[in-house]
Amino acid sequence: MQAQYDVVVVGAGIAGAGVAADLSRDHRVVLLEQEPQPAMHATGRSAALFSEIYGNACIRALSQASRGFFLDRDEEPAFVTPRGCIHIARQDELAGIEALASEPSVAPFVTALNGDEVRALVPVLFPGVVVAALSENHSYDLDVDAIHQHFLRQMRGNGGVLHCSSPVTRCMHDGRAWTVHAGDRVLRAPIVINAAGAWGDVLAKMAGAQPVGLQPKRRTAVIVDPPQGVDSAKWPAVIHIGEKFYFKPEAGKILMSPADETPVDPHDAYPDELDVAIAVDRVQQVADIAVRRVEHSWAGLRTFAPDKTPVVGYDSRVPGFFWLTGQGGYGIQTAPALSELAASLVRRRGIPDALAAAGVTQAELAPARFQAPGGASSQPETSYEPINGQASR
Ligand SMILES: Cc1cc2nc3c(=O)[nH]c(=O)nc-3n(C[C@H](O)[C@H](O)[C@H](O)COP(=O)(O)OP(=O)(O)OC[C@H]3O[C@@H](n4cnc5c(N)ncnc54)[C@H](O)[C@@H]3O)c2cc1C
Repeated sequence: MQAQYDVVVVGAGIAGAGVAADLSRDHRVVLLEQEPQPAMHATGRSAALFSEIYGNACIRALSQASRGFFLDRDEEPAFVTPRGCIHIARQDELAGIEALASEPSVAPFVTALNGDEVRALVPVLFPGVVVAALSENHSYDLDVDAIHQHFLRQMRGNGGVLHCSSPVTRCMHDGRAWTVHAGDRVLRAPIVINAAGAWGDVLAKMAGAQPVGLQPKRRTAVIVDPPQGVDSAKWPAVIHIGEKFYFKPEAGKILMSPADETPVDPHDAYPDELDVAIAVDRVQQVADIAVRRVEHSWAGLRTFAPDKTPVVGYDSRVPGFFWLTGQGGYGIQTAPALSELAASLVRRRGIPDALAAAGVTQAELAPARFQAPGGASSQPETSYEPINGQASR
């Protein structure tokens, strides 16, 4: 017997959970996840930072529009806690600071600092090496688990259903609705939402849609002890102006990343030893942080469309196939605004007013921007090999 829904959402990371929560208010929603638990891929592996000057102008608009959601919560745990964020430069990198500060979507949100002011915030930075920074006016640590669980709770409260260990392996449209095979379940719905993260193009091909050129890129995170005798808890996140590395306090430790962007196929990512060593080396070129041992490291996939803007909207050729992919390195901090936007487009109500006023357009998000005009949709692929619960942190 086939279970009937209005919307099948594939992928229970932050993207799938967010849009499912919104749509469950007036749709029968089912959220399908291939893993035994949700958030085992990109969502569970992020650096959990909210930086509203990160990414391109569209990402900044989505992040700035999400800030209210994160701050307005009056329950525990809070979605965000204040965390400064400074973008640092050496002498030969000052042009990068000037270029960033001159952008209209950045200028109102930053304050310029000189080398002494930077070291007053992070005393372990070497004098004479870091000479300037831009300090963000509104940056935060995000409680990713609290945000993700909030969306799932909201969805369940509205009658939505989450099925884990349910890899979607077939997705067929018969002219009226989709039949979706997920593990031992068969579901019917007129709308399928592609929130499959790194697997977005894989799912699209399975449904007979033209892929949009999503590229998963591996990023590594490393946890080390803070320097002895130094209180690092209040340090801001320190990001290299050219994004070659960053470090930030993390639950009594220091999180370092080489800000790697290694293109890979979708898979359960794991850290490469060399990237771990590069993370430590790059941080140690600017800061006096001795590393006796790496306590823990992990990697995750940040998945980008070719223009680094998310892909959101109905496929123009495959009926009822809706894209919500390509969140790159910004999927948590943009989730509130992107979920609302996606749900509005699913309901065919256009871009929400506040985002439209901020300059976000349907055309810049549409999957059609990467699909050959007039080209036929492809034959559905039926060779998907699910991970089947092999993923681990
Ligand atoms: C190291 C690192 C640091 C980051 N730091 C930040 C940060 O500081 N701030 C920020 O905002 N963002 C950050 N990001 C980015 C952020 O984590 C992602 O943009 C976001 O999590 C993407 O969410 P998603 O739901 O699209 O993808 P995912 O969380 O990967 O979810 C997609 C889900 O789809 C499931 N799936 C795929 N195919 C199928 C199928 N066929 N059937 C069923 N299920 C399927 C997968 O199992 C997966 O659970 C970081 C990412 C990494 C890796």
